[in-house]
Amino acid sequence: MKCLQALFLLMAVAGIAQTTPNTTGTMGTHATSEAKTIVIRAGTLIDGTSAQPKRNQVIVIRGNRIVSVGDASSAQAPADAQTIDLGQATVLPGLIDTHTHIFLQGEDPAEGGYDVQLLKYPVSFRAARATMACRRALEEGFTTLRDLETEGAGYGDVGIKEAIEGGYIPGPRLFVVTRAISTTGGYPLEGFAPELDMPKGAQLIDGPVEARKAAREQLSNGADWIKVYMTHRSWVGKDGELVSQPTLTLEEIKAIVDETHGWGKKVACHAYSGIGLQRALDGSCDSIEHGLQISDAQIAQMLKQGTWYCPTIAVYFTDWGAADTADGQRDRVRASVHEESFKKALKAGVKIVFGTDMGGIPWTEPIAQEFPYMVQYGMSPMEAIRSATTRAAEMLDKSGKIGVVAPGAFADIIAVPGDPLKDIREMEQVRFVMHNGVVFKD
Ligand SMILES: [Zn+2]
Repeated sequence: MKCLQALFLLMAVAGIAQTTPNTTGTMGTHATSEAKTIVIRAGTLIDGTSAQPKRNQVIVIRGNRIVSVGDASSAQAPADAQTIDLGQATVLPGLIDTHTHIFLQGEDPAEGGYDVQLLKYPVSFRAARATMACRRALEEGFTTLRDLETEGAGYGDVGIKEAIEGGYIPGPRLFVVTRAISTTGGYPLEGFAPELDMPKGAQLIDGPVEARKAAREQLSNGADWIKVYMTHRSWVGKDGELVSQPTLTLEEIKAIVDETHGWGKKVACHAYSGIGLQRALDGSCDSIEHGLQISDAQIAQMLKQGTWYCPTIAVYFTDWGAADTADGQRDRVRASVHEESFKKALKAGVKIVFGTDMGGIPWTEPIAQEFPYMVQYGMSPMEAIRSATTRAAEMLDKSGKIGVVAPGAFADIIAVPGDPLKDIREMEQVRFVMHNGVVFKD
């Protein structure tokens, strides 16, 4: 654990207290009163809000906050400030992935796939791997994650979040949903003898009373968002269309949304297509996850209601079945209708956020692999970067605090060597990461 020690040493050097647990602050701040000043010289700055990058900028950071951003020619750096020279790099806000699963590891079907996670692994083993997933995200410049359920690991995400905020382990700011909600017959484990009472990857409810109770339980145990599975599985219908099984009724999703909004929080709905996606929208869910096949009428409804769209494209290009199998045909239909939906939504002006479903993809793979798909499907590189910075921050109700390099924001700052506006794959080359005012990778 040399790296961890190195991190703590860095934190100590930067005047950051890491020994006192801080579980009360939602943004995980550990700055002491004698906060140190750091000056970053940025050759090029993409700040998250400006239409064009700015050249030769100076960012002044005190403690865990950015205090000023301005032209190098006019900036006044305090005499005692530490200077970090990123004059040859492109500096950006820390990135936000709004759809991850730190408790999943992209399981190889040959090694038992999803099921072994719940059947064979001690929760401590899963928590250890989730800790590494968080570290990995930070190394790749993702300083905030909305983690969309623990897949049978209960409230494990709340504990990981507390450990990060307390300074015990390195990791991004986490927005967690805990257990997620689906219905009987709407989530794995599946396919076991009916006599067996198998564990499930989500909290299953039937009826609006149970739905509301599940939301209350999860919210009272630390959920920042509520995650609902509005569809389950998918296959190709008789006319070659994508079909997915609806799960919650309209009454059930309405009970959850009503309860969650009452707590001032939001609901993310996994919804592939059809009836389930329609119920998610009619039930006023806040974000549609995946949205593989969205009709024109549904896009119009999303615009009217201000619904967010988190497409997670890359994950649907992994592990395709053979072309002559039912699964293989489904995989190909999913990818093609998804492309169509994304393009229509983009053109219509639906609010699109960056999300990957990491965990469904092994954490050893680059998180930034989602960017090139968004650009290939018609987003400008700047829009794609915004989807993972200012846009995502807006969805998380943290505008001005994260996803932006501006005075008052948390000092979550990254850098890549080249120009991501010329080649968006540059986002996979993050070489510098500052999180909460502390240099994590340099
Ligand atoms: Zn997911």
